[in-house]
Amino acid sequence: MVTTHNLGFPRIGFKRELKFALESYWKGQSSRDDLLQVGIALRGRHWQEQSELDLAPVGDFAFYDQVLDMSFTLGNLPSRVRHFDDDVLDNYFRVARGRSATGIEGHVAAGEMTKWFDTNYHYIVPEFDAATEFTLDATRLQTQLAEAKARGVKAKPVIIGPVTYLALGKAKDGSEKLALLPRLLAVYSELLTTLANAGVEWVQIDEPILVTELEADWQNAFIRAYQALDTGRVKLLLATYFGQLRENLPLVAGLPVAGVHLDAINARDEVAELVASSPADRVISLGIVNGRNIWKTDLEATLDWLEPIAKTLGERLWIAPSCSLLHVPVDLAGEAKMDREIRSWLAFAVQKLTEIKVLATALRQGRAAVVMELAANRAALDSRRKSARVNNPAVKAAVAAITKTLGHRKSAFADRARKQANILQLPLYPTTTIGSFPQTTEIRLARSGFKSGKLDERTYNETMRREIEHAIQEQEKLGLDVLVHGEAERNDMVEYFGEQLDGYVFSQNGWVQSYGSRCVKPPILFGDISRQKPMTVEWISYAASLTDKPMKGMLTGPVTILNWSFVRDDQPRSISCFQLALAIRDEVLDLEKAGIRIIQIDEAALREGLPLRKSQWQDYLTWAIEAFRITANGVEDETQIHTHMCYSEFNDIIAAIAEMDADVITIETSRSDMELLDVFETFSYPNQIGPGVYDIHSPNIPTATQMVALIHKAAERIPPERLWVNPDCGLKTRQWSEVIPALTNMVDAARKLRETA
Ligand code: GLN
Ligand code: ZN
Repeated sequence: MVTTHNLGFPRIGFKRELKFALESYWKGQSSRDDLLQVGIALRGRHWQEQSELDLAPVGDFAFYDQVLDMSFTLGNLPSRVRHFDDDVLDNYFRVARGRSATGIEGHVAAGEMTKWFDTNYHYIVPEFDAATEFTLDATRLQTQLAEAKARGVKAKPVIIGPVTYLALGKAKDGSEKLALLPRLLAVYSELLTTLANAGVEWVQIDEPILVTELEADWQNAFIRAYQALDTGRVKLLLATYFGQLRENLPLVAGLPVAGVHLDAINARDEVAELVASSPADRVISLGIVNGRNIWKTDLEATLDWLEPIAKTLGERLWIAPSCSLLHVPVDLAGEAKMDREIRSWLAFAVQKLTEIKVLATALRQGRAAVVMELAANRAALDSRRKSARVNNPAVKAAVAAITKTLGHRKSAFADRARKQANILQLPLYPTTTIGSFPQTTEIRLARSGFKSGKLDERTYNETMRREIEHAIQEQEKLGLDVLVHGEAERNDMVEYFGEQLDGYVFSQNGWVQSYGSRCVKPPILFGDISRQKPMTVEWISYAASLTDKPMKGMLTGPVTILNWSFVRDDQPRSISCFQLALAIRDEVLDLEKAGIRIIQIDEAALREGLPLRKSQWQDYLTWAIEAFRITANGVEDETQIHTHMCYSEFNDIIAAIAEMDADVITIETSRSDMELLDVFETFSYPNQIGPGVYDIHSPNIPTATQMVALIHKAAERIPPERLWVNPDCGLKTRQWSEVIPALTNMVDAARKLRETA
């Protein structure tokens, strides 16, 4: 009857084995063979974890990134690395990470990295130009297939489909990418033949681009591509995920593929139409376990919905997680220390596959065959639904009572700006930083010592206070105008707040790959959010007491906290966001009460929350901006609100940015040569702006002259009275030895500008 499968398994390893193996290899501390062995061991273990499935993915493992893997399979290497004739793996890492100019082989720029759809995973962007040729290198897949075969794995190779591959890449010469399609398809055909010759029956071909809005020529590309790949040698399972197909559904239904996978979490409403419009022999794979969150599936509700479909489809029904499990942590077994009740509500990758198995058994043998499993699932869901830790009536009431006025400042920007200027008495081109100063080894040691109990609270607090003192002394010496406390006490800008808010829980090992060897451990927002007591006031007041200069209080905004967490599936994101907004608003008001005159609310991840389809942007922006306004705008006119965003294209969201009504916005612009400011000019953005003049991602020290030139460019677009001078972002990843000279030059640049103003 039903067939079970999986689209992809997390590759980083339960104990982040891949991360450590990669980093050790890169440092030259282990051999290439050591690294390869870790890859083999991880793949073996992961297939073992999936052994009860009817089909397991092969080729979902990657040493760095699955898109880069595909580029190498297609022989699409950037020309700057083509002449290296050393090991392929080393060339692969060369593209992934670049090589600095100090190496013997000279500088090689890394491939550009960008977000994989709306996840927090980042892939290496394929590079094209009009002359790009493709040549097949199937070794990676062949090797992994052989490994799988040797282990008795029922293998289903996974590749990225040609249209998504082209769509995600960048034509470096601005040429038309679709012109490459015929050349690309020739290599894909060859690849499919190779896989067929290796005994493969099914190939999963991922085309997530189908959940986005496609121009007509890209829709046509799908038809051309899948007609060309319809060779009859292997069966293609066209996998779509991360959303609904909508207007692309008829297109998908008409493609000559043996199977289609649909994200039945997000696109449940489309299942009936897809089934009705598909050929009578097509496999329909339904993603019924959420691959994007960490919650248990409601198994009975799923069965209620699925059983009739299973009756109709019979053998043609496949079930799987909604997308690759790359986006969830590996195994709850690593969470022995987590609160037991909360843990009982969760499912990581391994648990999600067990859910698939239980659902399949119920479909095959009836629910009676899994009575125990269903009862346990129901009990867990009931405990979650009824838990007083999830439901806080006071918080729900506060959100229900939100009115429009909550997000309104008392006066318009011009009036506020006048009052603020009177109090703050800042010079033209005021200088400031974005919040964090270097997180030194001593800071990290103190924090881990405190966490593990080796350092008592008093000593820890004293250490942090000394760090704050140091940051302030340095800022005074530099002559900055608006100071910050430096964020020494913060491990991470989201975790720091999550740890102090009710409604959040933290995993110990819930790592998810962000890119390459980098992982994040997103906090889990499980319940209604409330703040027990002030979270930052003590540190910031202490910092303010050490200086006569204005002290800028530093907070993370509700949208960013939300977008960097695993969120609830039992209420809309917007409601969780409003709850966060009310909690951070209280913090803002407490800082104001404590005499802090400038408060920065970081919204680094505002853009990340944008839905994949533009037609849904407005809805998101409406509540996200409202949440920011509720957080920020309860203050008096005299209190200056700053916000900060990292590198962002503001072109299509400038109206929303203006709607936030922050008195000052600092942004990352230095690498764009101030071009990002164009849109602020054309939109006549009314408030103050701090366009970053110092690229903090690079160890280079910018000179005063360079920064003066950047500000001149900014001043061509924004009146000088509304400009601030600051770095692109926080300085936590830099060394003091880099920060001091760079900021000396920055302050110097501002001085020079004032003299000539
Ligand atoms: N205030 C934060 C810092 O300086 C901002 C970080 C960010 O924008 N990512 O570290
Ligand atoms: Zn930033």
